[in-house]
Amino acid sequence: MNCIFCKIINNEIPSSKIYEDDLVIAFLDINPDSLGHTLIVPKKHYQDLDDIDNQTLMHIMDVAKLLKKRITEKLNCDGLTLIQNNGSVQEVKHFHLHLKPSYKIKKDKSLEEVYQLLK
Ligand code: AMP
Ligand code: ZN
Repeated sequence: MNCIFCKIINNEIPSSKIYEDDLVIAFLDINPDSLGHTLIVPKKHYQDLDDIDNQTLMHIMDVAKLLKKRITEKLNCDGLTLIQNNGSVQEVKHFHLHLKPSYKIKKDKSLEEVYQLLK
């Protein structure tokens, strides 16, 4: 299967990985909407919200809670939005949850600087 997120999970292509356990990984979005924009991705290939089982979904939400805390503490964001796209608005057809921090005052850091703070 030619899936970019499966390739990241299998270490065939690099990523800025900030979290990993038996079921999921989380890495920084390569084209971030804001500093610390993170994707939580199940290791098993589920296409979308219809495909994924509830147990894995709940685990992803547990990891979202944990990473929300870490991102808020390390990057001092003022807000954080969770987004999960399906169908025509979903670019990568491997289920993923976006964590998008918001800032009242725009901060400027490279992806590498953000990675060093969050890893
Ligand atoms: P979606 O529209 O929800 O499928 O969003 C897919 C997201 O994956 C986009 O925000 C992309 O910037 C991101 N993305 C695509 N390729 C990579 C990659 N190799 N590493 C990190 N993020 C990626
Ligand atoms: Zn995949």
